[in-house]
Amino acid sequence: MPLRILLVEDEEDLAVATQAVLQREGHVVDRCSSGLEGWTLLSGELARYDLAILDWMLPDLSGVDLCRRARAAGMGLQVLLLTARAETADRVVGLDAGADDYLSKPFAMEELLARIRALQRRHPGYREPLLSAGGYRLDPRAGTLLVSTSTGEVSVDLSGKEQQLMAYFLEHPGQTIPGSRLRNELWDLHQDPVSNVVAAQVRLLRRKLAAYGLPSPIETVPSKGYRFAPLGGNET
Ligand code: CA
Repeated sequence: MPLRILLVEDEEDLAVATQAVLQREGHVVDRCSSGLEGWTLLSGELARYDLAILDWMLPDLSGVDLCRRARAAGMGLQVLLLTARAETADRVVGLDAGADDYLSKPFAMEELLARIRALQRRHPGYREPLLSAGGYRLDPRAGTLLVSTSTGEVSVDLSGKEQQLMAYFLEHPGQTIPGSRLRNELWDLHQDPVSNVVAAQVRLLRRKLAAYGLPSPIETVPSKGYRFAPLGGNET
């Protein structure tokens, strides 16, 4: 499943590369370069994160201190520490601070992705990867949406962003969801707040479904937002 990730890393090149790799995997990634900025984002109202990837050595608040602070505040997100220190004692300090795992620098991006997948599997709140509602089923592994129709099941290939949007709708069937909430949950914080990314993405998703000969289950609720109104899979 796509995750909402906070990346706190002060090595600019590494941070940019890591963010790009994570985004390519479909994750939503906010990035900053100091512990205090990280704390501001973690404790802010706007975003809820599934995972924080924290460098150990940061300009002000260290990754370990940031992790401690998050745990003291009762935050249940997962924490992966990045450290140039490989000594066992340091690892223990990190894990004692409440980190779920650590990765020694330098690391291969594939290793980072594998650790994240392992954390996802371990997480008690790990969501069933097959989301479904009203005849619509999302298979994130295959990147497809399976739609029941009177003539059988139609498989629709979705882009990473389309999957995230669809997953969100499938988790909230019948609810009117403000566009601002979708933007906060599915796009990073640096997105221009007045841009119409949500409307544009919904339009793309509808167009995609139409290209497969399917009606759109996503209704626009004027001046309120969007609602996923599946047909119950019984178009027959
Ligand atoms: Ca550092």
